[in-house]
Amino acid sequence: PHAIVWFRNDLRLADNPAFQAALDGGFTPIPVYIHAPEEEGAWAPGAAAEAWRHHSLAALDAALQRRGSRLRIFHSPSLQTLQSLAAACDASAVFWNRRYEPAIEKRDTRIKATLRDHGLHAESFNGALLVEPWRLATKQGGPYRVFTPFWRAARASLRLPSLFDPPASLPATDDGPHGLPLEALGLLPRLGWDAGFWEHWQPGEAGARQALEAFAEGALHGYTRSRDLPDQVGTSRLSPHLHFGEIAPWRIAAVLLALRQPKLEDEIDGYIRQLFWREFAHHLLHHFPHTTEQNLNPRFADFAWARVDERMREAWRHGRTGVPIVDAGMRELWHTGWMHNRVRMIVGSYLCKHMRYHWREGARWFWDTLVDADLANNTLGWQWIAGTGADAAPYFRVFNPVTQAEKFDPDGRYIARWLPELAGLPLAQRFAPWTDPSMLARRAPGYPRRPIVDLAAGRDAALAAYRKVSAGE
Ligand code: FAD
Repeated sequence: PHAIVWFRNDLRLADNPAFQAALDGGFTPIPVYIHAPEEEGAWAPGAAAEAWRHHSLAALDAALQRRGSRLRIFHSPSLQTLQSLAAACDASAVFWNRRYEPAIEKRDTRIKATLRDHGLHAESFNGALLVEPWRLATKQGGPYRVFTPFWRAARASLRLPSLFDPPASLPATDDGPHGLPLEALGLLPRLGWDAGFWEHWQPGEAGARQALEAFAEGALHGYTRSRDLPDQVGTSRLSPHLHFGEIAPWRIAAVLLALRQPKLEDEIDGYIRQLFWREFAHHLLHHFPHTTEQNLNPRFADFAWARVDERMREAWRHGRTGVPIVDAGMRELWHTGWMHNRVRMIVGSYLCKHMRYHWREGARWFWDTLVDADLANNTLGWQWIAGTGADAAPYFRVFNPVTQAEKFDPDGRYIARWLPELAGLPLAQRFAPWTDPSMLARRAPGYPRRPIVDLAAGRDAALAAYRKVSAGE
């Protein structure tokens, strides 16, 4: 018998419950990828993530071909594609791993029902999370809105599934349509602006394993200390691999827990706690699907966001705000498709608080430029930094980008790497170049003279606006 294995954001063979189910059921798996961005609602994948996907699909196809099978690629509506392929290949089952984006959850529910109505065995699995969103509830029976109690409950109920490695060869069939060449999907940018990305990344399952190995041997050993320092490789950089499901979170947890020893206890716990932020983000997205567009905290409905000025928005997007740590972050993002978490918070705070732009402005730009763009994590991150979301920082905590830079980039190395034009400034001016205008004019003539929003004035205006919201509490 044949079974379609519908690959989505689970682009791996190991620890892949849908793929495993096909093999365990004695089926010949027909691996399929369907490109249907118009089915993702307002959040069709962004450009950087699509470029990543291209390489990840190529890696998945290569892994299948090494085992005697292959990936069939289609660009047509998902339901019709599955139905006609099942008919053409005489497949009796369709297996996939669940996704949690609101538009996709709705679509998949409909697809499952229709396939079953037509006599197919349609079954979905958890391929992405340690704890699926509906597994945990507060004592009152509702979803969590605060991280720490969520994390405590999730950790207490955690059971890691056993690991699965794919067989060296797979049964294969030539029946039915073979699909399109990967290039036909046009996932790679035409202008080649992604060229610099691939010096930093290796998309695909093998790349994910290597990143985990490198982390376990390297940055893990000082994770709690160095995870906040953007000039170091202090984190795992597994986020795009996790987003595309190139590695299962339970494999990451299992590999790290196996290294447990007193010296590493805090580092491993600290890392697994971060993984649970991802779980929390999925919990929130599932239970509060409107939050991709609207504030989780309804008190912000009338918040006085500033009107968007095209020039200011462009300055933020392209790293020309005149605030070095903000500009360095935005350029890291543009050049590598990724930005360090600490700097994401700093650029986000500058946009939402100093510039007082709606967090959606930031979320949209990240969506298009991050290789790890993930609707759950991005929504949580932006609402958190704007103060409109779950477990958000109190409104009066406006990051000062200068003191943030002094604290987390103490040698100014991160700034100098991404803004080489400032590398010749003494350290104090590298953090706040406007404090010595003549030095700035002499040594970095191309850099903005002063921030697009003055730090003190921006902070005061933000506090005034936020105070109105909190007065309504
Ligand atoms: P590590 O420190 O090695 O953490 C390991 C894993 O834990 C990450 O890969 C990630 O999956 C998860 N994780 C860590 N921190 C967070 C967090 N704060 N929220 C959710 N998950 C977390 N992450 C994305 O994956 N996609 C996004 O689109 C995204 N947008 C963000 C937007 C803003 C404004 C902010 C402040 C954060 C955003 N994050 C997003 C979270 C975080 O910045 C990245 O997950 C992290 O920088 C990835 O680097 P890493 O894999 O080296 O992290």
